[in-house]
Amino acid sequence: MKDKEPYYYSKTIRQAIFDELLEGMRTVRELSQALRISEKEVITHLTHVKQSALNKGYRFIMKPSECLNCGFIFDKRDKPKKPGRCPRCKEEHLTNPSFGLEKLL
Ligand SMILES: [Zn+2]
Repeated sequence: MKDKEPYYYSKTIRQAIFDELLEGMRTVRELSQALRISEKEVITHLTHVKQSALNKGYRFIMKPSECLNCGFIFDKRDKPKKPGRCPRCKEEHLTNPSFGLEKLL
C-alpha cells in the first residue's frame, strides 16, 4: 500500500496539522485528506493542537456548523463533527465546522 504512505516523514502529524491550519481554515475532512489519516485521528490530534497552540503563541479558532437553509449557527456546539440536522428547521444542509489558528500579539 505504497500510495497510502503519509508524506510527512520528517515532521509529526501534529506539526503537519498545525502547518495546515496556519494556511487557513480547514475542516476535519480536509485535514484527513491532506494528511492521509482517518477523521477520527484528526479529531484526536486537533485536541492536542488546540492545547499546544497557546504555547506557540496562537489562538485555536473553530468556526461552527451552520445551516444553509435557515442560517442557524451551532455556536454552542464544541464537537468537531458535523451535526445531523438543524434543530430549528430540521434540514440537513449543514456546513462542516472548520478550524484555524490566529496569531496572538
Ligand atoms: Zn436550519
